[in-house]
Amino acid sequence: MNGSLQQYYNRIRMRNAAIAEQRRTECEKKNPRIASLREEQGEIVRRFAAGKITNEQAQSRLGAIAAEQKNLLIAMGLGASYLDPIYTCPKCRDTGEIGKGRQKPCSCALKKMQEELTDGARINTRETFAAFNPAVYATDAQRSFGVRCKAYCEKYVAALPHPEKPNLLFLGAPGLGKSFFANAIAYGAIERGIETRKVTAYRFIQDVMDGISNGTDAVRIYANLPFLVIDDLGTEPMVPNVTKETLFSVLNERIAMRLPTIVISNQMTDALSERYDERIVSRLTDKSVTAIVVFSGKNLRTRQS
Ligand SMILES: [Zn+2]
Repeated sequence: MNGSLQQYYNRIRMRNAAIAEQRRTECEKKNPRIASLREEQGEIVRRFAAGKITNEQAQSRLGAIAAEQKNLLIAMGLGASYLDPIYTCPKCRDTGEIGKGRQKPCSCALKKMQEELTDGARINTRETFAAFNPAVYATDAQRSFGVRCKAYCEKYVAALPHPEKPNLLFLGAPGLGKSFFANAIAYGAIERGIETRKVTAYRFIQDVMDGISNGTDAVRIYANLPFLVIDDLGTEPMVPNVTKETLFSVLNERIAMRLPTIVISNQMTDALSERYDERIVSRLTDKSVTAIVVFSGKNLRTRQS
């Protein structure tokens, strides 16, 4: 976890601890019995640590104290858990990490990391399945496609990190919802705690080129990401010995490891075949691992309503 993320969680924990302390002071003032329960609790822990009471005795007494405190809080018109520790994210208890030894990033950390990315690379919070609106479609045919596409994409997210077909290839003219669905999927993946990166093909090639000069193996990084979305394939510069080779490496390695990948392009397969090697196109369209979704119809952004 980087330093600024660490600071972010430190701030959240401090703020929540301050709120919890304020609540306690207020409750103890209103009902001194709550204060004496806390003292008793401390005393039990000390006696247990000193070996004067058994674990069972300590547990049973602490349980009785917790129950009495709950009843007092309810009688005061507060929630039973009013004095429990406060967590902005109960999943990771505001540490940003989950799992054994807290080694996996929590979905809240993945979302926070997205906020620090530039606009084009950021998985946004607007284009989500919840925000899907069938009314944007002009025709019944397009609407019915959109609804089916959403259902398919939601199923895909639910099956991550191992959907039956790990790869999606979204093809079609601009303004038909390809990026919307890709973003909604990426957002869903993050919510499920899967580290996800969205990148334009242009940016990908730029990262590879930068990596060549500064010694970073960008191909390896992209090849190993748990989930990758490559947008706008076909708009990147054709750098000799770089573009085709690195695209092939990343796609090929990801397929070999069955790592889920979405590729989006405004071009259709014949145009892609003209632009790239047959090897790249055969990886992109390999039906054993890829579902190809072709978007068609009227542009949703220029539609008059
Ligand atoms: Zn969290």
